[in-house]
Amino acid sequence: MIMQWVFTFDEGNRDDFYLLGGKGAGLCEMTKHNLPVPPGFIISTEACKFYLKEHRFPDTLLNQVSQAIANITSKTGNRFGDIDNPLIVSVRSGAPQSMPGMLETILNIGLTTKFVEKKGISSPSASFFYDSYIRLIRMFGRIVRQGFTGIDYTVEKPSFQDVISALSSFSDCFGDEFPQDPNEQLQQAIKAVFDSWLGQKAVEYRNLYQISDDIGTAVVVQMMVFGNKDDNSGTGVAFTRDPATGENKMYGEYLLHTQGEDIVSGGRTPQNLITIEKNMPDIYHQLINIGKNLEDIYKDAQDIEFTIESHKLWLLQTRSAKRTPLAAIKIAVDMAEEGLISKETAILRVEANNFNQLLSPRFQESNPLEAIANGIASSPGSASGFIALNKEKVAEFTSLNKPVIFVSENTSPDDVPIMAKVNGILTQHGGATSHAAVVARGLGKPCVVGCEALKVDNINNEIHINSNVISQGEYLSIDGNSGLVFAGKKTVVCIDPEKNQELAKLLHWADNINKIRIYLNSNTPLEVTRAVQNGIETIGLCKTEWMFNDAPFRSLFRKALLSDSELIKKESLEALYNLQTEQYYNLFLAAQGHSITIRLLSAPMDDFLPVKDALLTELSELRMSAIWNENIGQKEQIIKEVALLQQVNPRFGLHGSYLWFSMPEIIEKQIAAIFKGAIKASTKGIKVLVRFLLPDIIDEKQVSQFVEIIRKIAKDNSILNNDSISFQIGALLETARAAIVADEIAKKVDFLYINTNSLTESTFGFAFEDSYKFIPQLVNNNALDNNPAIWFDKKGVGFLLKIASEKARSSKPSIEIGICGNHVDSPDAIEDYFSLINAVCTDPSHYFDIRLGLAQAQAKYLQGK
Ligand code: ADP
Ligand code: MG
Repeated sequence: MIMQWVFTFDEGNRDDFYLLGGKGAGLCEMTKHNLPVPPGFIISTEACKFYLKEHRFPDTLLNQVSQAIANITSKTGNRFGDIDNPLIVSVRSGAPQSMPGMLETILNIGLTTKFVEKKGISSPSASFFYDSYIRLIRMFGRIVRQGFTGIDYTVEKPSFQDVISALSSFSDCFGDEFPQDPNEQLQQAIKAVFDSWLGQKAVEYRNLYQISDDIGTAVVVQMMVFGNKDDNSGTGVAFTRDPATGENKMYGEYLLHTQGEDIVSGGRTPQNLITIEKNMPDIYHQLINIGKNLEDIYKDAQDIEFTIESHKLWLLQTRSAKRTPLAAIKIAVDMAEEGLISKETAILRVEANNFNQLLSPRFQESNPLEAIANGIASSPGSASGFIALNKEKVAEFTSLNKPVIFVSENTSPDDVPIMAKVNGILTQHGGATSHAAVVARGLGKPCVVGCEALKVDNINNEIHINSNVISQGEYLSIDGNSGLVFAGKKTVVCIDPEKNQELAKLLHWADNINKIRIYLNSNTPLEVTRAVQNGIETIGLCKTEWMFNDAPFRSLFRKALLSDSELIKKESLEALYNLQTEQYYNLFLAAQGHSITIRLLSAPMDDFLPVKDALLTELSELRMSAIWNENIGQKEQIIKEVALLQQVNPRFGLHGSYLWFSMPEIIEKQIAAIFKGAIKASTKGIKVLVRFLLPDIIDEKQVSQFVEIIRKIAKDNSILNNDSISFQIGALLETARAAIVADEIAKKVDFLYINTNSLTESTFGFAFEDSYKFIPQLVNNNALDNNPAIWFDKKGVGFLLKIASEKARSSKPSIEIGICGNHVDSPDAIEDYFSLINAVCTDPSHYFDIRLGLAQAQAKYLQGK
């Protein structure tokens, strides 16, 4: 069987983009719907692949091309090389994936010197033919022969003399004459389009957008229509809706008396489409109708290329219109309300990435040209603030409520507390998986890394970016969406999703589809208040470590842990208990009767101990000060205690629920303080529903004992017959074992949470805090697909999640299963886990995108059914 390399516009449709390219498939679809498309044919991507491999055309290709050309002739009467009615075509590139401007297109193939000379004598519009021919010679020289810039084409009304000089600069440049055989022109043009696939800019573009090098481009050969023919001709682009705002109004640009290339080249300033409405109202209305028609066909906003030749409209291209994130939402919502698409489709149309970008803070106005440097965009959002180069400056600025950009060569775990306080982070080194990038994403802070033009001068307290020298305390602005860095201050704006009509609607539809509960992580009373204001029913994880990290808590806690005096220990614990009671009381007040999930102390004790090396330095300083000092003995005692408590691998040591059996007094006091705080809140008329979350549970027996002790403490505090206070007990599963015995654990608790962070860390056997040092190397060497600290690991962790969920439901079908961790908001992970759980705990910064993400996963599922 002979391979079909060539397809006429009647032989394909919109779905054939892989074989015929996006442009070709679009032309076929428009032809199918009887829209005015100049006739033509497509040489498939298969032919391109053959050519790129074999460095020659397939044997039967030129034959098929000749037949297709004859087919156009039979339709139009125009014939290649005919002196009166020549066939003139364009040879256009068109890959399966859009690569705007990266591949070549040649117009006016088929024009010859003989023909334009004859027309010049016989036709009043001679200059039009000269103009078209000169364009061909120029494009042919530049694209096919690669290297000819030819005459700089600015001649208004060219004469035949201009044609002659264009021809002679061509032969001067290449040593041969411009080819006069249209078939020769065509073949060379096809080759040139194929070759443009391997052009440097095309290769770079594909690398950047991760488009495969193997898919090749199709070639569209299409009869020319001439926008440069007369005063009733022109060419333009139209968007069926405004691509910036999404407004349902055709928007576009138009140039009278030109050929297609002029509009994109920017050489002339185009006019608004309104000029067509004025001069050719019938054409304008036809264009509007065609826009509607195309939206009906594609169910999406389109970007159309058109040409008007002597008052007749022709369509040359249609594709889905690129749009701003805001326009994407408006178009999706409007189209659903117009009945063009379903609400599910509208929700699926909005890209999670765009959505985040839209909701993250952005610069009010941003001109990329003003940027002084470019780094790697690694955490979305824009920030503007005072440059701070160290901990002290960050503390100083933040205490004055000034916005801060932390600038550093790179960051380390010691910098995390600083990073949590600043508005944005900029580093000289590192990639998208560097420490700074990973931590910034976790904290929801705008971040640019790998800005190699940056030099940090810690001696003079200034930074150098290319030729700019900026001092600490001066303004700097960074854009975590684009990676751009700007000198000076920029206004940062945020969209309020509830105030944007379309956004609010979209979220409302999303909530109606989503069956999974969303809980907001809130540690402090302030965060709890914010969650309540957001209409959240259940406060998600309240991690109690934040309390113990507060200065007054911390010193008491250290005393309780390290003092050699039983009395001081006891007093410290008591004081700690009172402080905690007050904090829980505040949390319950803020929760206003909403249930709140409190995770009992989980971090290893090491997190709260003083740093031993610092103590040793202090000790040696005391010793050197020669005078006898009673502090020496104390210091030695503390160091001894620290050494006893310090663990080799804190995160795989005494932590989570293991703490309880080793330090029962601390955990029991915590539980008692929670109940005391609840009682205090209930006397203020507040109902309290506490959900105790037991961290890192590994066995049902462990849970049983925990449940017993909590009940006992509740009883001791007369909670059991207090109508205003109720409590539930849940287990946090963080290890493979916990997942495997989830059925047994489930029987003993009211709810289960699965922590994807620690489950990932324990499954892989590394800590996120260290993994940035070695996991990227594995990924770069193709030893691991993705960094599991960032990407949800479906194969391993996803499998354990499935086991945990299935087992837990098998023994207790009604149990609530929740999920928490860094991965929960990534669309990829959501798709994997949504059917396994009932609730998601997320940080407030992801509240909106997770609502969309959960709805999208469920809408997709519904559509697939
Ligand atoms: P790109 O993919 O870079 O947009 P195109 O193949 O679409 O390249 O062509 C570039 C310009 O030439 C466009 O404005 C297009 O409308 C115009 N053009 C292409 N083919 C024809 C034709 N047969 N008649 C008139 N104009 C054409
Ligand atoms: Mg185009």
